[in-house]
Amino acid sequence: MGGLDTLRQEFRRRFGAEPRAFRAPGRVNLIGGHVDYNEGWVLPLAIDRDCFVLASARADRRLRIHSREFDETAEATLTAPLPGEHHWSRYVFGVAWALGEIGVPVAGADLLVASDVPPGGGLSSSAALEVSTALALAGLAGVSLDRAALARACQRAESEFVGMRCGIMDQLASCFGQPDHALLIDCRRLDVRPVPLDSSRVRVVVANTMTSHALAASAYNRRREECEDAVRRIAAIKPEVGALRDVTWEQIASLAESWPDTVRRRARHVTGEMARVHAAAAALERGDYESLGRLMLEAHRSLDEDYEVSSAGLNLMVELGRELPGVLGARMTGGGFGGSTVNLVRAEAAGDFAASLARLYEGRTGIVPQITACRPGDGAAEIL
Ligand code: ADP
Ligand code: MG
Repeated sequence: MGGLDTLRQEFRRRFGAEPRAFRAPGRVNLIGGHVDYNEGWVLPLAIDRDCFVLASARADRRLRIHSREFDETAEATLTAPLPGEHHWSRYVFGVAWALGEIGVPVAGADLLVASDVPPGGGLSSSAALEVSTALALAGLAGVSLDRAALARACQRAESEFVGMRCGIMDQLASCFGQPDHALLIDCRRLDVRPVPLDSSRVRVVVANTMTSHALAASAYNRRREECEDAVRRIAAIKPEVGALRDVTWEQIASLAESWPDTVRRRARHVTGEMARVHAAAAALERGDYESLGRLMLEAHRSLDEDYEVSSAGLNLMVELGRELPGVLGARMTGGGFGGSTVNLVRAEAAGDFAASLARLYEGRTGIVPQITACRPGDGAAEIL
């Protein structure tokens, strides 16, 4: 991508002004799959890869944005209709809209986007872009938002403006990241607790299957409805229950025996996964990476069999990964039906692990996967 000096030069050349610079990291979720929208707990980390946004104010109400990765410039007034429905610039205009909704006086700006979080690779390039943009636009407006408000505005941009009904995990992770720590996030209270993750002992390796499913978005929304169905059945008896986060599997197992099999298995995954997240955070706390790895493998089985959001490519990537030397755990990460797996690997084995996994996966599928070793990185900030 080139260093920050190169980006500043490019900004001056394109826009003829001196920019301020902002960065926000991508993330990877260690455990806690399909839990955020059930208001439960997740355990992601911000990674050492960032989306950079360089920005300077304009005198008018226009946003002009150049993305290096898409090699394209988009331009419109803040209130005008946008180009294509799925155009990447909607993430940026969505953030401007969401900030306006909470009273930030967003004005026109020139923006240069340059990211080393690969789009669609399971590392949440979208949240990195949103959070970096939000810092830039709020910064130019002279407003300093607390990090939870920043994350919430970015989630609103993605779910209400872009139209992806995402939870809030990705944006919170990008805002609250800390070097050498994973983050135990309570998705209802928006409370974030850093938990140590020692990069000298383990590495987190993300393996992109390079497959995706056209029906992923509709299946995601169907899972959300199935969870809402389970909550309605529980609330008919326990009215205080507002989300699956309010119950354990032990509390609802006998009740669920009379439910449709699908709804029962969805609820079993979500409640079991929340228990695994707590056990995983406790394991991390004691530096017990073996237990964390086992929990990740259990989580994968549950996502595959009970929640049914895995795919042949994801299962193959997990099976190949878990046989390799130095691996402690592996599971699919993100929404599913394709995308990436996350692997917990002993630090000294991480390089060989990545090379072997790539070779084995290509041998079986003919597809060259993208494999990225990550370390926990710092949360979003202006670069001064
Ligand atoms: P993920 O967040 O897992 O990487 P998403 O589908 O949620 O995948 O977000 C990817 C989208 O975010 C891209 O298709 C694009 O619209 C936008 N995006 C991400 N990075 C950039 C970038 N560097 N420049 C412009 N748009 C980007
Ligand atoms: Mg995303």
